[in-house]
Amino acid sequence: MFNQLVAKALPIVPKPIVRAVSSRYIAGETIQDAVNTTRKLNAHNAKATIDVLGEFVSSRSQAEQEAQMSSNVLTAIGETNIQSGLSVKLTSLGLDIEDEFCYKNVAALVKKAHEIKRFVRLDMENSPYTTKTIDLYKRLRSEGLSNTGVVIQAYMRRSEDDINDLSKLGASVRLCKGIYIEPSNIAFQGRDEVQENYKKLLRLMFDKDMYVGIATHDDVLLDFAQEEIAKRGVKPDRYEFQMLLGVREQKRDALIKAGHHMRIYVPFGHDWYGYSVRRLKENPEVAGHIVRAMFTGGR
Ligand SMILES: Cc1cc2nc3c(=O)[nH]c(=O)nc-3n(C[C@H](O)[C@H](O)[C@H](O)COP(=O)(O)OP(=O)(O)OC[C@H]3O[C@@H](n4cnc5c(N)ncnc54)[C@H](O)[C@@H]3O)c2cc1C
Repeated sequence: MFNQLVAKALPIVPKPIVRAVSSRYIAGETIQDAVNTTRKLNAHNAKATIDVLGEFVSSRSQAEQEAQMSSNVLTAIGETNIQSGLSVKLTSLGLDIEDEFCYKNVAALVKKAHEIKRFVRLDMENSPYTTKTIDLYKRLRSEGLSNTGVVIQAYMRRSEDDINDLSKLGASVRLCKGIYIEPSNIAFQGRDEVQENYKKLLRLMFDKDMYVGIATHDDVLLDFAQEEIAKRGVKPDRYEFQMLLGVREQKRDALIKAGHHMRIYVPFGHDWYGYSVRRLKENPEVAGHIVRAMFTGGR
């Protein structure tokens, strides 16, 4: 209860406090920070997908700057040979400005990633962008760019249809619960119904032999996924687990130890505030962290 109150009050918590308590979720502000974090993860047998923090860009020059940053990340990945792909949010690359402009920015990144044998994941944002994101992905595939994949959110009622559709392309899909607030006519609301839909969609993806990134920290779903993998004898080249930097690290290590492939989402950059608030709201111990930081000044 107290945690929920604190989560609601986050917008009025001073930014330096939010920054301090969310530092575990963010690699830092520079590309070098993301590379260093990825090196450590690689040493623990986890791969990464690096994300330049930022979303909902409204000017062309801002979107071009974001695209340049992601391109610089790919350069750094190629030069250092760290085991990481790239994750991008299409609104940061101009989806709100013009579809064609966004497509060109994304296609350039996917082509560059192809040259260094890396993968670009198109993150899924809120519902006004779902169809546009899937359409853009399909266009990339139709133009021969296959080192890219999408994200499907289990809370969306449309997701089963989307998976059936994407399976025809042999799409690589990250399956997550979904993080934005969506209305009940288009999205399941209750924890149980989202979990049930997640299970249903995961089964469907295994049935269709799609490559799936199982992106969750939820024990119920992690146990379910492991049971399905064992029961069906799903090969390690058909799936990986995915987690966010700084979340449930013991569970992460246990999954790696059990022989599963693991990829960690590594966000970095100056635009850390929106991402941090979303992470803190999901942390069941948010109140303790914030109150402690209030008293210690975040140190
Ligand atoms: C790799 C990855 C990529 C993602 N990409 C997207 C995307 O493109 N679009 C999108 O809408 N969503 C994305 N998400 C977020 C996702 O939709 C969920 O909001 C988020 O993962 C929380 O759901 P959960 O399945 O982990 O279950 P939850 O029930 O939220 O969490 C399960 C347990 O994990 C622990 N936990 C969870 N979060 C925290 C935290 N911040 N701090 C401490 N403990 C925590 C708690 O113990 C909690 O009980 C992504 C998630 C991951 C892991």
